[in-house]
Amino acid sequence: MTKASINPEKARRAASHPERPGEKCRAEPGKFLPVIDRDRCEGKRDCVEVCPHGVFEVRRIDDADFAKLSVLGKVKSVVHGRKTAYTPAADQCQACGLCVVACPEKAITLLPA
Ligand code: SF4
Ligand code: SF4
Repeated sequence: MTKASINPEKARRAASHPERPGEKCRAEPGKFLPVIDRDRCEGKRDCVEVCPHGVFEVRRIDDADFAKLSVLGKVKSVVHGRKTAYTPAADQCQACGLCVVACPEKAITLLPA
């Protein structure tokens, strides 16, 4: 698991969001999976700052993922320093839903694994 680096204020705001999906962190790890739309992601780390299980990391986008972006997605990616979110500890997700409502770009969907 990557180290969680929580921003308590952002996490609190996300926790009380009326559209928060998921299982309130009661799901068994690995039953749900956060999926990132890289055409939307701007790499500003809100997901990293609210996930209680250290699922996310933000880093330079892989060349193969960059190649799959739309034209607009490529432009956005370059403007944002080619940063994007990855989920190296996706198997730790317990479906709290915080990342979904914290993401300012609506780039995260929580899906059954
Ligand atoms: S919060 Fe959303 S836009 Fe920001 S890094 Fe995470 S997935 Fe990308
Ligand atoms: S729903 Fe999002 S914030 Fe919650 S545990 Fe899963 S990846 Fe982390």
